[in-house]
Amino acid sequence: MSEGSAKKEERCRFQAIKGVRDILPPESALWNRVEQSAREVFATYGFGEIRLPIFEQTELFARSVGEHTDIVSKEMYTFLSNVEPGSSEQSVPTSSLSLRPEATASVVRAYIEHGMQMLPGNVKLYYVGPMFRRERPQKGRYRQFYQIGAEVLSHSGGLIEDARVDAEVIEMLMAFLAHVGLTQTTLHVNSIGHSAPECRRGYVARLRAELLNVKDQLGADSQRRIATNPLRVLDSKLPSEQETIAKLPHIADHLCEDCRKHYAELRAQLALRGIAYEENWRLVRGLDYYMRTTFEITAMGLGSQNAVCGGGRYDGLVELLGGPLTKGIGFAIGTDRLVLSVQETALQGARKVEAESGLAAYVAWMGDAAYPTAVRIAQVLRKAGLRVELPAGDAKLGKSLGLADKLGARYAVIVGENEVASAEFVVKRLADAEQKKVREGELVAAVSGK
Ligand code: AMP
Repeated sequence: MSEGSAKKEERCRFQAIKGVRDILPPESALWNRVEQSAREVFATYGFGEIRLPIFEQTELFARSVGEHTDIVSKEMYTFLSNVEPGSSEQSVPTSSLSLRPEATASVVRAYIEHGMQMLPGNVKLYYVGPMFRRERPQKGRYRQFYQIGAEVLSHSGGLIEDARVDAEVIEMLMAFLAHVGLTQTTLHVNSIGHSAPECRRGYVARLRAELLNVKDQLGADSQRRIATNPLRVLDSKLPSEQETIAKLPHIADHLCEDCRKHYAELRAQLALRGIAYEENWRLVRGLDYYMRTTFEITAMGLGSQNAVCGGGRYDGLVELLGGPLTKGIGFAIGTDRLVLSVQETALQGARKVEAESGLAAYVAWMGDAAYPTAVRIAQVLRKAGLRVELPAGDAKLGKSLGLADKLGARYAVIVGENEVASAEFVVKRLADAEQKKVREGELVAAVSGK
């Protein structure tokens, strides 16, 4: 064998490892367009990109995602890190690190580390990048896979606990999916309450007791979860378990008054935004940190791995990781599955949006009766590619204008009772306080001026 062919043979012995793949042209161009669309649409809602490390302390994921979750207990790529290079100490393993299996924990870590609770309004961040889980590979399920995710965090301002924030996050997600041409989807929503004896904890105790009664009808995985994570039994796709699971008690019947109200408000807010959804009492999600709102999007044509996005509210997570009292909500889209289901042609005409160029408008609304109109105006402006801030709560005009200014908005669109009745809105340029009255159809033009 010549030296050349021996070398070639050696080169060919290397292959991408199981569950990991290359994304080649022309498919990579489609990936770029999908990711670029996310950047553009998310910017219209005022989200900025955060670039996160690929690995973190294992403890960060163990604490946030949960010790007993599949992700932490069996799917993480974990390794020991030696002492710092250059240190004279002999290398004794010092800390356990893991490739990130998801990014919410890292976003929260960064939020705390950079004191982002000092920022005005809600902190809105998105990320794009690879995640790593040692799962059984199949079509649509990989060991290195990609996510596009977004998170809203706030310690008090911005009324982040309001279900209006949940609904706006979901609206943004649906706007993005529509932008990339994915419309054959189903949005599933649920509330898993909060961790208190009169709410989820009470439900979990009841669920565990019921599951013990029907233990022999369940498979090994579910039997194990009765002790560790009984909610996850509801997630089971095993055909032989479905009949048994269908008879279990529903969490909706065990929510406390506040969580019940929050869930009702979420549904009302989704309806207000024209977003169709299905309630799914079995949607509990695989990560421990969720509370109240959980949601998932499934897409047609993806076979068994048909979930393209999952998300929910995680009001206790920042405190759990040592930060200040902060509430949060977010989602993660599986880019691999999204790309599998979008049509290349649908993206070609995708318009360019200008949202990166600063906050165009702050919609200052007053009185609950004005809110539906404010939602509609924000939708229209964002669809035109403009970055818009729609506060979850109303305030006196002076206070709203002050916040609009602080956030760097070019215009405030004022939506009060009179404006709703007359269908004419005051558009105020914040730099020089010049204002004019415009009709709804002229708002985009009025707010587009720099
Ligand atoms: P999760 O972080 O588990 O809530 O997942 C959010 C989304 O990421 C899912 O709906 C999937 O679309 C995607 N996803 C999760 N795990 C994988 C995987 N192993 N391979 C491909 N996509 C995944």
